[in-house]
Amino acid sequence: MKRAELVFIPSPGMSHLVSTLEFAKRLLDRDDRLSITVLVINSPFAPATNHSLVQSIAASDTRVRFIHLPQVHPPPKELFFVSVEKFVADFVESHKAHVKDAIINHVLSASLPLGGLVVDMFCASMIDVAHELGVRSYVFFTGNAAFFGFMLYLPTRHDQVGMEFRDQTDPESVIPSYVNTVPPGALPSLAFSKEGGYISMVNHGRKFKEADGIIINTFYELESHAVSSFVEDEIPPVYTVGPMIDLKGKTPSGNDQAKHQEIMKWLDDQPPLSVVFLCFGSWGSFGESQLKEIALGLEQSGHRFLWSVRLASKDDMPTDAQNLEEILPPGFLERTKGIGMICGWAPQVEVLAHVAIGGFVSHCGWNSILESLWHGVPIATWPIYAEQQTNAFQMVKDLGLAVELKLDYRVGSGELVMAEEIEKAVKSLMEADSEVRKRVKEMSEKSRKAVIEGGSSYASLGRLTEVMIANNI
Ligand code: UDP
Repeated sequence: MKRAELVFIPSPGMSHLVSTLEFAKRLLDRDDRLSITVLVINSPFAPATNHSLVQSIAASDTRVRFIHLPQVHPPPKELFFVSVEKFVADFVESHKAHVKDAIINHVLSASLPLGGLVVDMFCASMIDVAHELGVRSYVFFTGNAAFFGFMLYLPTRHDQVGMEFRDQTDPESVIPSYVNTVPPGALPSLAFSKEGGYISMVNHGRKFKEADGIIINTFYELESHAVSSFVEDEIPPVYTVGPMIDLKGKTPSGNDQAKHQEIMKWLDDQPPLSVVFLCFGSWGSFGESQLKEIALGLEQSGHRFLWSVRLASKDDMPTDAQNLEEILPPGFLERTKGIGMICGWAPQVEVLAHVAIGGFVSHCGWNSILESLWHGVPIATWPIYAEQQTNAFQMVKDLGLAVELKLDYRVGSGELVMAEEIEKAVKSLMEADSEVRKRVKEMSEKSRKAVIEGGSSYASLGRLTEVMIANNI
């Protein structure tokens, strides 16, 4: 039996590690001829730790092994807050020699042939290592197909214009992977970055074309326009293998576990489709004035709510708010007792699966969108950072799968979204028989069909594994 070893290189950071490992598990479940070595780039800020997820997979699956690369001195922390894309690109690139050494000493010397490197979208520089070693490389793209199209568009545009996007007065962009022309307000902040973020992404976009395949966490039925926009001979084959969702979510411990149980118990007591859930991803947070407006908007909407509140912090991860009575409008907590619940980090996947949830006010991170579609819960869009503006634009304008709350909000803009806008969007989101809700339900069924035998993503994953096994060294 022909077999192959794959080398996975996730970029540092929890969400990319988790989705990459989720994909690794899918591949192994699908084809027992494959084995995987994961090269772990340690977090630039925390000392090398053996993450619990890594430990549990290493202990439970004999076909996955982890090699922790030596700790490398990161770029200055200030760069992280000016341009996270540039910070990550530089940090990853500084691991090239370690990656090459690890593959030569631990993989090529072993008995299994090497089927290729699977590199995270922010590790595109590792495609060079694959070239040096004469092996294949596949990009694992954790965003969606339309945004992958945007990344391909960047170098094409750059060759004509030679500079980053200027500002909101730029003309709309014709990006083939989007149905509509894209206004500057819907572009991600990196498009405007003069601090290296833009040029890092141009370089990634160029590099992607040198890979042997692009693996995207999406499904054809959702993004048929974007997938069809890719010109066959100009880019590597695209494999749509999603939605890949960790439906179990992470197991909480200690206080978290108690809080999660309290949330689920509270939801059990609410009528079906009556609760709007607000949650804004790993980095989403607001200042005090914005939290007040959200509270007023929710109260005025008259709907029940579960609200994951996280407080902005100047130079660190958002934190759970401790003094909500002082921050929120006077009497808000008292008045909404029984109809609303506030939490910190939420068990999002479990929450979205609950029958009581009727709508989701989301920052439009791609995982959140896939999770919400999977469970048939419509979204009201409130993008904040990364590529969330483009995701929101695509969901509302291109696909008609979300209600518009904001499309062009972005962190650091100083904009205050007023209670009336929030109230209006929540009311529209929670309508029982809306067209959006109907379309989301249909897409939910399609997402579930895509990953089972006979589905588009199932077939795509099968084609990918065959290619990986047939082309090893
Ligand atoms: N998430 C969660 N609880 C929270 C916030 C986020 O479980 O309070 C999970 C969510 O289910 C999703 C991931 O964290 O799987 C966020 O990924 P996404 O791509 O949506 O956004 P990001 O955090 O990368 O901006």
